[in-house]
Amino acid sequence: MTVPAAAPDLAVQRLRADFPILRTEVNGHPLVYLDSAATSQKPRQVLDAELDFLTQHNAAVHRGAHTTAAEATDLFEDARAAVAGFVGATPDELVWTSGATMGLNLIAYAIGNASQMGRRAGGRFALRPSDEIVVTVAEHHANLLPWQELAARTGAVLRHIPVHDDGTLDLNAARDIIGERTRVLAFSHVSNVLGLVNPVADLVELARAAGALTVLDACQSAPHLPLDLPALGVDLAVFSGHKMLGPYGIGGLYGHAEVLDDLPPFLTGGSMISTVTLDHAEYLPPPHKFEAGTQPVGPAIGLAAAVRYLDAVGMDAVAAHERIVAERMRDGLREIDGIRLLGDAPGAERVGLWSFEVEGVHAHDAGQYLDARGIAVRVGHHCAAPLHRRFGVAASVRASTALYTTHAEVDMFLDGVRGIRAYFGAGS
Ligand code: PLP
Repeated sequence: MTVPAAAPDLAVQRLRADFPILRTEVNGHPLVYLDSAATSQKPRQVLDAELDFLTQHNAAVHRGAHTTAAEATDLFEDARAAVAGFVGATPDELVWTSGATMGLNLIAYAIGNASQMGRRAGGRFALRPSDEIVVTVAEHHANLLPWQELAARTGAVLRHIPVHDDGTLDLNAARDIIGERTRVLAFSHVSNVLGLVNPVADLVELARAAGALTVLDACQSAPHLPLDLPALGVDLAVFSGHKMLGPYGIGGLYGHAEVLDDLPPFLTGGSMISTVTLDHAEYLPPPHKFEAGTQPVGPAIGLAAAVRYLDAVGMDAVAAHERIVAERMRDGLREIDGIRLLGDAPGAERVGLWSFEVEGVHAHDAGQYLDARGIAVRVGHHCAAPLHRRFGVAASVRASTALYTTHAEVDMFLDGVRGIRAYFGAGS
């Protein structure tokens, strides 16, 4: 596999050659892809890794006694070690999922199962009525609905930490809300609407003092920032392969070894058991306890190629590049009349994504105007309707960058945004 050599400054043009789609045209213009927060583009190395597995080594893992099955198992478990290492974890702390939504549901359903068993059998995870689950108002629906459902199943109360007008989390409110009744605190590392990095250390400290379990949604940090989940001190975390240069249908669930040991499984079936009788089953230790049924082996191997690619580029270099790109985008957007940025908190740590309103123009119209110029952005509430409601916005435009985003692309985007209001006759 060829990957770019590690470099302090990203050689973006060289790296872009690895992404076939970045050479395509849309509506007669070169594609300017600014929708990486929805899904990232995939380098050739990821596609090749999956193809190589499927054409040279494909077999059922952990089962067959034949050579190809052993090769497939080795590749699959090597992939686990690579992806676990990328987030600072050990292989037995990394459970494969189909994506972050699946990972968060797995956690919520496992806690629900523990709750059904009662405090004795369900141990420390069992929830009772009047226990509290705490999230923030800035969560993606994937980190909100599973907790709503869990609260409904168990009688627990769901509470929300608000954000300030500049989008930053209200830590004083968090201090009031997180307390002795809090059993679970679930929050995103980086908001998929605001791009702001949440104060993980403060939140973990509050949760620990309350004896609550912490669940981190790392979807929007894993592709952009160096990540060490054990060092962050969270109990559980999820991330999504397709947002970090990897294939669809694969994600990771990190769990502190003791937490994974104690948490009951969510799905049951083949591949997650040590012994089975007609009436009873003994489960394998984690991570296999949480991996019932046939796993997405090819996508896991593709995701390993993605993290090896990111590692070879260097996550410090990725973060530095995206910071500069984000500033260029913010500076340009601030100068355009009628643009209201969401989460423009001075000096706040952030990744390269900006959501904004265009005064007098519906976000969908703005998105279509940009699309006609080959510029791909996301429009709508980005699966964070409560946060949009908090800001009194029905829908916003979101431009999100990645390691392959160039300054020239940001400038083309800004030129496009400059034309929107005039085209739709807004403000005239
Ligand atoms: N959490 C956040 C912050 C996201 O941005 C997304 C995807 O948009 C998800 C969760 C869901 O991820 P997945 O597509 O892997 O289910």
